[in-house]
Amino acid sequence: MDPLKIAILSRGPRLYSTRRLREAAEKRGHKVKVLDTMKFALYIEAGQPDLTFGGKPLSSYDAIIPRIGTSLTFFGSSVVRQFEQMGTYCLNTADAILASRDKLASMQELSSHNVGIAETAFVRNPTDVLKAIQAMGGAPVVIKLLQGTQGIGVILAETNKVAEAIIETLSAVKQNVLVQKFVAESKGRDIRAFVVGDRVVAAMRRTAAGQEFRSNVHRGGNTQSVTLDPEYERTAVKAAQILNLSVAGVDMLEGADGPVIMEVNSSPGLEGIEGATGVDIAGEIIQFMEEQIRFGNIDVRER
Ligand code: ADP
Repeated sequence: MDPLKIAILSRGPRLYSTRRLREAAEKRGHKVKVLDTMKFALYIEAGQPDLTFGGKPLSSYDAIIPRIGTSLTFFGSSVVRQFEQMGTYCLNTADAILASRDKLASMQELSSHNVGIAETAFVRNPTDVLKAIQAMGGAPVVIKLLQGTQGIGVILAETNKVAEAIIETLSAVKQNVLVQKFVAESKGRDIRAFVVGDRVVAAMRRTAAGQEFRSNVHRGGNTQSVTLDPEYERTAVKAAQILNLSVAGVDMLEGADGPVIMEVNSSPGLEGIEGATGVDIAGEIIQFMEEQIRFGNIDVRER
């Protein structure tokens, strides 16, 4: 196919994932620019959506790869939406990025479909706290800050009393907290499935360090490549599709009754999982994008 002009929206050209995506796209003959998401300005005008980069008009691109960090969700997704309005193909849409960033909203969305999710309660009224803990099977329960990431703000409360105290404390400082059933049988392990289109292209198991129950790599967890059971593969792909994500990192616990989805990430990192599995995920992503642009409804050449 004709080479594409691709922009990667990223704050750091040297970040592993950004570098790998650029490398993979260039290897397939495409032209790539890494554009700092923060440097855009959006101009919203009837019939003429536009944007500038670094104060200057931006040349046209065939495709956008958004790599939007959690600290830049609102502005970053607005930039992506502007590209969508201008008719540019975006790998993951603004709405899908926004929805997946909200742990509660995405769980709500998933709960109406037939996929395993971590049983979760969200309460505001102090009189509901103990009831919610009990509804989650009683202690131990997992308490999560709605806005947490990389395992920060994820607490295992061993007794109902402690759970209540933690929820009350966090509520007092105006934090939104979720109470979740503790999936004890997953024993400090979880699965990250990397979905591209309708396929899991790579999967790894993360195992928590020592006594830690959180398996995040940032918390010292280690990783190993796994071949997923079909049920886990189906669940991961379905979760990505429900949330309308072409590229997604789906985190699942290994529950007694099968996969339990915890979170779906719209800008999943490549470093850990490419390292653990040896799969050229960046190449898979670029190839998927080519197919979408070539065979999908989007014909960038006719714009
Ligand atoms: P973050 O988004 O900050 O990574 P997660 O919700 O993914 O937070 O939780 C971090 C880690 O804690 C998970 O990778 C998992 O190992 C562990 N964990 C989270 N929720 C549960 C749960 N309900 N039961 C058992 N372990 C859990």
